[in-house]
Order: sequence, then structure tokens, then C-alpha cells
Amino acid sequence: ARVFAQRLNGLPAPATIEMARRARALRAEGRDVILLALGEPDFPTPPAVVQAAHQAALDGQTRYPPVDGTPALKAAIARKFLRDNALEYAADEIMVSNGGKQVIFNAFMATLDPGDEVVVPAPYWVSYPLIARMFGATPVFVTCREEDGFRLRADALAAALTPRTRWVVLNFPNNPTGAVCQQDDLEAIAKVLRDYPDVWILSDEIYEHLVFDGVRAASIAAVAPDLKARTITLNGVSKAYAMTGWRVGFAGGPADLLAAMRGVQGNATSGVCSIAQAAAVAALDGPTDLVREMAAVYSRRRTLVVEALRAVPGLTCAMPEGAFYAYPGVAGCLGRTTAAGRVLETDSDFAIALLEEGLVATVPGSAFGFSPYLRLSCATSDDALREACARIAAFVAGLR
Ligand code: PLP
Repeated sequence: ARVFAQRLNGLPAPATIEMARRARALRAEGRDVILLALGEPDFPTPPAVVQAAHQAALDGQTRYPPVDGTPALKAAIARKFLRDNALEYAADEIMVSNGGKQVIFNAFMATLDPGDEVVVPAPYWVSYPLIARMFGATPVFVTCREEDGFRLRADALAAALTPRTRWVVLNFPNNPTGAVCQQDDLEAIAKVLRDYPDVWILSDEIYEHLVFDGVRAASIAAVAPDLKARTITLNGVSKAYAMTGWRVGFAGGPADLLAAMRGVQGNATSGVCSIAQAAAVAALDGPTDLVREMAAVYSRRRTLVVEALRAVPGLTCAMPEGAFYAYPGVAGCLGRTTAAGRVLETDSDFAIALLEEGLVATVPGSAFGFSPYLRLSCATSDDALREACARIAAFVAGLR
């Protein structure tokens, strides 16, 4: 038998990828599947950003960049943190990685040993626990209840912290719920974290610009400046600028941790594509109205989807304050039987039956550690979303 490293033992494939795979297989059979499983903007990258990449390539910006990012991009990131988050970071407190995902990978690899614990509020984006487990650490989940607007409560966080806690992950606006922790929520969380001075904080703010109804996302390092020296503020261009394929994410954080992360990244990738970095400069320094326009579109689609789902007997749906997902509850459908005779015992059963019988690909809440729910990505056209909601309504109406 072939031998693989023990660190991969028992690591599941992310369910998001698995649902997309099943959906593509059905499409390959000629079935007309609506894909709401992936968290990817449907907008094109802004043309001025593409132009900047083109120009950088023509100008010869084609050599190895510095491991932690080009000076031009690090300067643009410093301006961004100051402008959007009132956070001041020096050049050695900023690092560019291959997507926000590599920031997490670098940070966890640089700090985690087997037996350490990483506190992850649930529902969560799948990668935090998976990456933590790659380094032998144990994810510890804290439930963010629907009746609390899926926000993290300080008392729930306090109950999860132990002497083995190395990291606390904060991800607001949240994937998958769209919940946003605001100033007062973060103040309460900061109060708890002050009792644990050796715990690092990962604040994943990648959806910060996608907030609705006048809600404002806050950064914990700005709300609690005394915690800034142990906080990684994670962001990137994937979601805000429709640049998922360019693979540019970044971190602001303390110089010693960033130096360790630079060591990891130097061995893994030698840094980020120089041309993509030039594009990211144009995105971050570019006009902000594009981002606002995209956020307005996501807001409209969110309302469309939530209202359509709320009208389906058996489904519930909270109104997300940010990001581009809806997270309807399916408790009212469990125990029932589909038109094709499948018994729905879990949200995974629901998601698979909905895909195969209703031709809508979603992701079950179990993938995000919080059942029974479904995650629908609203980053697709209004027409496709309307049709998807009609199919969901018909699927649920057909349950016995
Ligand atoms: N953080 C969250 C919450 C996400 O949903 C994603 C992407 O799905 C990322 C980080 C990583 O994005 P990227 O690696 O494209 O920057």
C-alpha cells in the first residue's frame, strides 16, 4: 500500500467541493443544475485591474517578488487598513499570501503543535478546522445560535477557552451565515480575551465590504487596540473585487508572528505572483464605487432569496447582514419523504435529494458544523436565484 503522512488521517474533503463535484457530474449527464454551492462572485474582475496586470507584465514585473509581497502592494495594503479599519501597520507588519487561505495556513503552521486547541465559532468556513487539524491541533467549536443572530456571544467564547487554546478565530461578516459582529459585540469578546494573554486572534474580515442595511463591520484590532499585538487581521481581494482566481490575500499583524509566517511561505511558495500583486494594487487603490455597487446587488439578491424561502412552509430563513449567502433552516422538513422516496433524516440528505431531484446544488449545514441548515450562495444572477427558489419550493411541496 502507498504510505501517506499521518497528518492527513481522517481529514475529510470539504463538503463545498464535494457538492460542486456532484453537481458537475449531473451537468455532464445533461441535467440543468443550478449551482449555488460555491462562494464565488459572479462579477468579472474590474477591467482597470486586469489592465494593471497586463501593464505590469509588459513592464517586466516578471521576476521573483519579495516573499512577503511587493513594496507597492504592501504600501497599498497599509493605506487600505488605515482607510477602512483605522489600523496602522508598518511594512514589517504586512504580508501578502496566495489568498486569505494561505494566511491561515502560514499562521497555523507557524504556531500550532499537536494537542493545541483552536477555538472556531460555528457555523464556520470549513478551512479553519481542516487546516488546524493538519498541524495536529484540535478545533473547539462555539455555537453561534440563530436566536443571537448567529453572532458570537462572549459568554459562549469564555466557556470554550482552556489553557491549551492557541487561537481564537473570528469571521464576521460570516461565511456561511452573513452575521456581522459590531463594535459592542467585539468589545465584549475582547474583554474575555484579555484574560488569555497567550491566545492569538485570527480576524478573518474578507467579507468586510459586503454588508447591508447600513450595518458596519468592525475590526477587533481597532476596537481593542491592546489586542492588536496578538491579532492577525486577514483580508484579500477575492470577494470584494471579484478576484478569486488571482490568489491574493493579505495579513496585518505583529512583526514577530509575520516573520515566522514569512519563513513558512518562503519554503512553500516563495510568495505571490508578481502580476497578480500589481493587479491587487489597482484594486485596493481603485474607486470604491464598484465595490459598493456589487454590495448593493448582493443585498438585493439576498432579500429576493430570503423572501422566497420564507414563503415556503417548512423552511425558515434569517436575514443575513453581510456576505453573499443565505442560510435557511430545514428542521421543518426532516423526517419527511421526497417524491422519489428518499427519507430526509439530516440536512445532508436534504441537500443531496434537492440536488438530484430538484436540480439545485447547495451545501448542507453539517459542512459548516451547524445543522439542520443549507447554505445557498447568492452570487449568481437574479433569474437563476428566482428559478432556484421556485425549484426548492416545488421540492419541499412534494415532500410527504
Ligand atoms: N475566508 C473566508 C471566510 C472565505 O469564505 C474564503 C473563501 O471562500 C476565504 C477566507 C479565502 O479566500 P481567498 O483564499 O480566495 O482569499
